[in-house]
Amino acid sequence: MTITTLTKLSDMLASGKTSSVELTQDYLSRIKNSNHNAFISIDAEQSLAEAAAADDLRGQQKTSPLLGLPIAQKDIFCIDGTQTTCGSKMLEGFIAPYTATVVDKLKAQGSVNLGKTNMDEFAMGSSNESSYFGAVINPWSPANETLVPGGSSGGSAAAVAAGLAPAATGTDTGGSIRQPASFCNLTGLKPSYGRCSRYGMIAFASSLDQAGPMTHTAEDAALMLTAMAGFDQRDSTSLNVPQEDFSRLLNESLNGLTIGVPKEFFGEGLDSEVATLVEAAIKEYEALGATIKSVSLPNSHLALPSYYVIAPAEASSNLSRFDGVRYGFRASDYTDLVDMYTKTRTEGFGDEVKRRIMIGAYALSSGYYDAYYSKAQKLRRLISNDFDAAFEQCDVLMGPTTPSPAFAINSRADDPVSMYLNDIYTIPANLAGLPAASIQAGFTNNNLPVGLHLISPYLQEAKLLNIAHQYQQVTDWHTRIAPTAIGGSN
Ligand code: GLN
Repeated sequence: MTITTLTKLSDMLASGKTSSVELTQDYLSRIKNSNHNAFISIDAEQSLAEAAAADDLRGQQKTSPLLGLPIAQKDIFCIDGTQTTCGSKMLEGFIAPYTATVVDKLKAQGSVNLGKTNMDEFAMGSSNESSYFGAVINPWSPANETLVPGGSSGGSAAAVAAGLAPAATGTDTGGSIRQPASFCNLTGLKPSYGRCSRYGMIAFASSLDQAGPMTHTAEDAALMLTAMAGFDQRDSTSLNVPQEDFSRLLNESLNGLTIGVPKEFFGEGLDSEVATLVEAAIKEYEALGATIKSVSLPNSHLALPSYYVIAPAEASSNLSRFDGVRYGFRASDYTDLVDMYTKTRTEGFGDEVKRRIMIGAYALSSGYYDAYYSKAQKLRRLISNDFDAAFEQCDVLMGPTTPSPAFAINSRADDPVSMYLNDIYTIPANLAGLPAASIQAGFTNNNLPVGLHLISPYLQEAKLLNIAHQYQQVTDWHTRIAPTAIGGSN
């Protein structure tokens, strides 16, 4: 049994061993037979129609890099004519009138949309427990315990780890691609800020949000990112840089690479088993020709507090559009306009979303703006400067993706601060806009996956993927199959 990657499926399609319709049918039946709650909605008819169209194109000798490959989409991406909920009651039944650029681009390369994956409400969370559509089950859960898949892209992570999709999209504002990738034994990449268009991706914190791939391998991540990235006039923060083939450096040697290991990423709160596994993974790079160097990011302790001012501030503004007038849910009993707004938002949002809106509105209010919001922006600059200084001494930074492996459902749901601490290592890259990835680095004694976190300089995704890919050539952690994967294989 082995994992099934996009690359392998693409070869199978090219050689005629299978068709896109066959593949899509197979994945749809796995989704049906799974109990991970990884999907919020599927439209089998539509997926099969897309697969048939891809098979037709192939029949006419037309091809494209993702032709006929099924990919699951996080339910944060609008898809024309499709329910797009963002994991919230507020958007239950909302049918998007247009398609997100990232989804459009994947489709333009021939991929088939397998369905919309579950997620924390409005992408706020690290466990997928805040979804209105229910918690998601981590496919790596042992027989006697139910673990979270991480969040907010928990449905995408569980879908790929359980063999319900060969790959999925995710979004990452503070760690939502990398943390679930680490909890579910996947490769997850958050590109540089601005690399992938945010058009049609429901906004959480606009200065931090980025879309990216969740796959089994760096090779697949490169394939997907090549399709997803690119300038988009409809997103004012989209980067106007030349189109790249992110696979082009995969096979380069790592001889002469300098890896920086920030000492702040191995401090208090880090599980000792995670530390040991991550240190061993970094050491493995020596055999690949790399040199390891201790570096410092002295302001990293300021990342979490500044994120939890900036992200809620932007969220409180972004989420003001959900007021019952235009999108989705509206309370049924109200006396006047203000009462309608109040009841709609009280009934439509979950607790975590309300908490963020209140924190954000407070931080932005006159009198507190300078004390909180402006201050947090200044800290953000310090964090960014730390990275610039570190990259003068090394090519890439490495550490743990998360302080602990996946935890039990309901074990942290009532303790927001302990939930926020999950993202202590991932948030700095979002604040600085840098590309960062989590790759499979080994397993704890309880057979739970642990992720290695890689951060690289701005716009160096191709190099980052090369570093990840070379590690995957000499290790097999990424090929391990989750105990509850459908059919025992994926
Ligand atoms: N867990 C973090 C939060 O709740 C990050 C979420 C994300 O990246 N979307 O804000």
